[in-house]
Amino acid sequence: MRAVVYNGPRDVAVNDVADARIERPTDVLVSITSTNICGSDLHMYEGRTDFPSGGVFGHENLGQVVEVGEAVDRVKVGDWVSVPFNIGCGFCKNCERGLSAYCLTTADRSVFPNMAGAAYGFADMGPYRGGQADLLRVPYGDYNCLKLPPDAEERQNDYVMLSDIFPTGWHATELAGLRPGESIVIYGAGPVGLMAAHSAMIKGASMVMVVDRHPDRLRLAESIGALAIDDSKGSPVDQVLELTHGVGADRGCECVGYQAHDPEGDEHPNMTMNDLVKSVKFTGGIGVVGVYVPQDPAPQDPLYKQGEIVFDHGLFWFKGQSIGTGQCNVKAYNRQLRDLISNGRANPSFIVSHELPLGEAADAYQHFDARDDGWTKVILKPAA
Ligand code: NAD
Ligand code: ZN
Repeated sequence: MRAVVYNGPRDVAVNDVADARIERPTDVLVSITSTNICGSDLHMYEGRTDFPSGGVFGHENLGQVVEVGEAVDRVKVGDWVSVPFNIGCGFCKNCERGLSAYCLTTADRSVFPNMAGAAYGFADMGPYRGGQADLLRVPYGDYNCLKLPPDAEERQNDYVMLSDIFPTGWHATELAGLRPGESIVIYGAGPVGLMAAHSAMIKGASMVMVVDRHPDRLRLAESIGALAIDDSKGSPVDQVLELTHGVGADRGCECVGYQAHDPEGDEHPNMTMNDLVKSVKFTGGIGVVGVYVPQDPAPQDPLYKQGEIVFDHGLFWFKGQSIGTGQCNVKAYNRQLRDLISNGRANPSFIVSHELPLGEAADAYQHFDARDDGWTKVILKPAA
């Protein structure tokens, strides 16, 4: 099969690799028809994680089941399925509680002896190959495959967002504690920030503010009724305070991660965290889904080599704020979000800018990594 293989920083290629296949009786084999490039792939693509060269990327996968292992009951050949980026077992202490991003069965214990969580094509998240490929092996297939409705094939560009960024944006608003009628500020108008804004609108937020500096991304935020805050035109904190009569937003979301930078491009891994503390009200909640890593092999800020940031803990504590962090437990939300899509209440495909054949992956990575104008979300279509 063909797959997007990482050769080293900013170097990926579509190569022939050994076919994915059923390895255990609980596996499902999916023929991938839609697979997205994610901001999380970019941390790895840029050499800012310890992702091994030769590894296959791709954790936002949708396709059709072509084979099932002997112990698979529910999923059938021919089903259209969305595959969460987390790989859970469904029976460990964490999966049972809905914490499928922190599975204890599938985790790679060589990373930490007490490691929890696994994912496809992801640094430190196990040996699992990604789905930017013709085929994907899905472990514990009955648990990890979400069956899609009859319109799955035509509406793949919406449903493909269920494997990661739609649930992740939703999770950001959950971690922040958003309730109907409240205001929320979202740092980052990448795909994840835009999905957090879409989620906040669906949940009935009274005001949704989105901070970024890319006009194309800010326009998308405005297209769904959010207020765009351009931080290249002035302090985002001041702009949020002005819009909220000096009080600050009720809730805030971090949808950027450790490669946060100023509009000139200089990285400050603490920038959005401290801006959130300042732009969220006293007692407000902050949800952090942007990725932070325990080690950065090529840090721009020397402190971040060990994942450390200068955090304004004094002000955070003084304001009585709360914070929630981490990978999204996709299984906690994807069924309900699927039903919002199928009933026309959600349309996450509004962010899609490019649908490309798998063979154009290298070029697509380059453009998306540069955040080139108009490259907001790329879907690779292996079957095209
Ligand atoms: P992206 O890189 O395309 O988007 C990030 C956006 O943040 C860009 O538009 C950039 O201009 C903006 N930005 C940079 N610095 C900023 C600042 N100081 N203030 C405001 N905006 C700033 O990526 P994405 O796909 O949207 O992903 C965003 C983050 O979410 C990444 O870190 C990704 O790894 C992470 N992620 C986490 C999960 C999870 O489960 N927690 C899942 C998917 C993605
Ligand atoms: Zn992703």
